[in-house]
Amino acid sequence: MKHAKKRILTAGAWPYANNYMHVGHLAALLPGDIVSRYHRLAGNEVIFVSGTDCHGTPITERAKRENVPPFEIADKYHKSFKDCFSRLNFSYDYYGATYEDYHKEEVRKVFSTMYADGWFYEQKNTQDYCPRCKAFLSDREIRGVCPHCGSVSKGDQCDHCLASLDASQLRDKACAACGGPTEQRENKSLMFKLSAFQKRLEELLASRQTTWRQNALNETKKYLEQGLPDRAVTRDLPWGIDVPVKGFTDKKIYVWIEAVLGYYTCCKKVAESRGTTVEAFLRDDGALHSYYIHGKDNIPFHTVIFPALLLAMSPAFQLPEYIMSCEYIKMNNEKMSKSLGNLITVPDLLNAFDADTIRFYSILTNPEKKDSGFTADDLIAAHNKLLVGGLGNFVNRNVSYLKKKFDGVIPAGKADAEIQKTTRALYRDAGAKLEAGYTREALESLIEYIQAANKYYDDRKPWVQAHGDPAGFGDTTATCLYMIANMSNLFHPFIPTAMDRLKAMLGLDAAVWAEANFTAKTLGEIGILFNRIEVK
Ligand SMILES: [Zn+2]
Ligand SMILES: [Zn+2]
Repeated sequence: MKHAKKRILTAGAWPYANNYMHVGHLAALLPGDIVSRYHRLAGNEVIFVSGTDCHGTPITERAKRENVPPFEIADKYHKSFKDCFSRLNFSYDYYGATYEDYHKEEVRKVFSTMYADGWFYEQKNTQDYCPRCKAFLSDREIRGVCPHCGSVSKGDQCDHCLASLDASQLRDKACAACGGPTEQRENKSLMFKLSAFQKRLEELLASRQTTWRQNALNETKKYLEQGLPDRAVTRDLPWGIDVPVKGFTDKKIYVWIEAVLGYYTCCKKVAESRGTTVEAFLRDDGALHSYYIHGKDNIPFHTVIFPALLLAMSPAFQLPEYIMSCEYIKMNNEKMSKSLGNLITVPDLLNAFDADTIRFYSILTNPEKKDSGFTADDLIAAHNKLLVGGLGNFVNRNVSYLKKKFDGVIPAGKADAEIQKTTRALYRDAGAKLEAGYTREALESLIEYIQAANKYYDDRKPWVQAHGDPAGFGDTTATCLYMIANMSNLFHPFIPTAMDRLKAMLGLDAAVWAEANFTAKTLGEIGILFNRIEVK
């Protein structure tokens, strides 16, 4: 059954460039690669983008502490992210960084147009200013006495009593950088009329009840019920994208608006490289499906902020259709955090395990609907049980038997019609799950297929059939090879390297999301698909 080609946008969240990639990032982002790969195999036109979020105060503060330019911090972690994604075989069509000139230029264009269209207005306020550093200070750049516990605290949160603060509550305020007293000066900023989109975003939420995850529906509802406030889009920082509006050119564009626009700028870059335009690609014409992939702490940026920006940019753009917002990964039953010391970095994992093993386990334990755990022992157990003992074993027991006993010559036979029917149904069912963004559920149904295949082999006993029932042996072999050919398609989005190796070993056609037949007459040189991992 041929269907019209769809356009697919998969937009993976932008990791922040002040730390190494950890398994929480991996769990949140890998499903975007699976969905993108699936859609390409199904014949659709995919643009899969993401990038590194490089601006903002955590990076400037760290740069100050380490006495290096902010670029150095951002660039170091950007390169590390890029390297991890490449080693994990993420199939991004473009992976950018917010410090790239193309992104900056395109964001400035969008910003100027939104200003010209009246979406921003000027607001005056008084703000803490350090005359020695000649800079306006944000809350976290101010030190002072905490009104709750009396100890010296940062302006945004007290490290001693953990109270949430704003700097106006502090006594004896001083600049955190130079220690000098701050003074109040008049400042101005540009505000985005987010409140103007309240009704339109409520309608969006109502229209997405079946395609956004439950956590996204709940979180967005809460957010909208509070009433949307207008938000400042400019701030006083030395590191970021210059505001392209007269009177504000000494300020930078706030990260919250600039980083999410990365979906747009990267999509534009890819669309243009393919001879089309971002306007043509993102238009909501029924043929476009868009997926936004992130952890649940990022939900409002994708269900409120980015849709509001898209609405301000053009009424023709599709607003986020699928929100794939995962729950948390827990290490030893605790939410992963740096302070607990339970953070596993992805560079560490990649030094210990194959990319396919990491990908397989990350989807198998994906916190798709509820929190889930991730441990190295469990990863090894899943690899040995399901990849080596399940998939690898099914391939190996068939192939090595034919090699050993029949010199690789495949007997005549016909694949079982019932199994063919089940296989075709699996393409439909797993495909539907992937289209809805549920990669873990899709993988679970594929694992059942392997278990059924091994059971079929055990029940048919081809090693007995081979002596005295050549017709039965031929049919069993044809059925098993047919299942192997289809496994190499069905598992391809999840473990592409191993499945390409399997295809090369057996002379199978390139992966597609459609029933495959096994056509070779003899088997060539066959290697082992997965090696057992021994626990040290
Ligand atoms: Zn305190
Ligand atoms: Zn100062």
